[in-house]
Amino acid sequence: MFVPKRYVFERDTLDYPLGQELHDQLTSQNKNVIVLKSNRAVLDKLTSLEEKFHYGKETLILSVRRSFKFMSCRPSAHYQMPVATGCMGRCEYCYLNTQLGDKPYVRAYVNTEEILDHAKKYIDKRGKMTLFEGASTSDPLPVEPYTHGLEKSIKYFADQDQGHFRFVTKYSNVEPLLNIDHNNHTDIRFSINTNSIIDAYEHYTSKLDLRINAAKKIGDAGYQLGFIIAPVFMYDGWRKEYQALIDQLNRTFKDYKHGKITFEVITHRYTERAKKRIEEVFPETGLPMDKEERKFKWGQFGYGKWIYKPEDMDEVKEFFTERLTNMDFETELKYIV
Ligand code: SF4
Repeated sequence: MFVPKRYVFERDTLDYPLGQELHDQLTSQNKNVIVLKSNRAVLDKLTSLEEKFHYGKETLILSVRRSFKFMSCRPSAHYQMPVATGCMGRCEYCYLNTQLGDKPYVRAYVNTEEILDHAKKYIDKRGKMTLFEGASTSDPLPVEPYTHGLEKSIKYFADQDQGHFRFVTKYSNVEPLLNIDHNNHTDIRFSINTNSIIDAYEHYTSKLDLRINAAKKIGDAGYQLGFIIAPVFMYDGWRKEYQALIDQLNRTFKDYKHGKITFEVITHRYTERAKKRIEEVFPETGLPMDKEERKFKWGQFGYGKWIYKPEDMDEVKEFFTERLTNMDFETELKYIV
């Protein structure tokens, strides 16, 4: 559970029963509660990006979601449906570091019901199966104990014939989700990596063992379960360590009887903009971002990424394809990129 240093309430939040309830509860617990006069949270005027980053990551903003225009989320879903924005994690390579810029605070919404009403409008407009991604701008699990956005969404989508929900997490506090009647309308995926990578770069996230144990519970609760192995790095000993990860999954799921488990594998890549930001926020970073070892590839949005060289990509693809298609349980390997 995320325990921030300060809880900031935007003014309108208190007009919602959940906002008022959280305010009263946190105040009675003598937490550091700040109520803003305006509707837009403004952080202290900190100077460096590094300071803003760490301050923001220790701040939970309780907020009302006002924008109901859902962005496209291809290829993983039709639409983004944020039940939170930002994340308490401090993964050095996180896409949010670039996306949220100098406002990296964690924001949880007290009006999930209104967000879901708008999801219904998108479903009705399409008139066919519509998939919503709940983790496109956050990892929503750490703020779940406050706003229960996932629980509400899972229950809501359970009753939708043409709506499906999914999210991905690096956390393990899944207990409150286990007994929900989800009706197989929600997929939950866990993002995993080797212990070395998690220790080196995924600060303030759950350890690998905890994520895998949580995944097992989610699978046993009947959810469609998946793993994203990402980002894959080719470092000294990478084969041995990713093999250990595969072996651990085999041990944990060898008697798994709840259908196939999906896998997605994504190799490490970075943009120039992300590199610059990472170096500002994590001046001591050891993330491998040496252009000599990479190939530049233009993307569809007018900027390019530094990806592994073709011969390295082939090696990674061969390694994971061979293993993930021959596990001791049923799998579907969706892609390796
Ligand atoms: Fe980003 Fe996910 Fe890490 Fe959170 S857990 S910082 S969303 S990569």
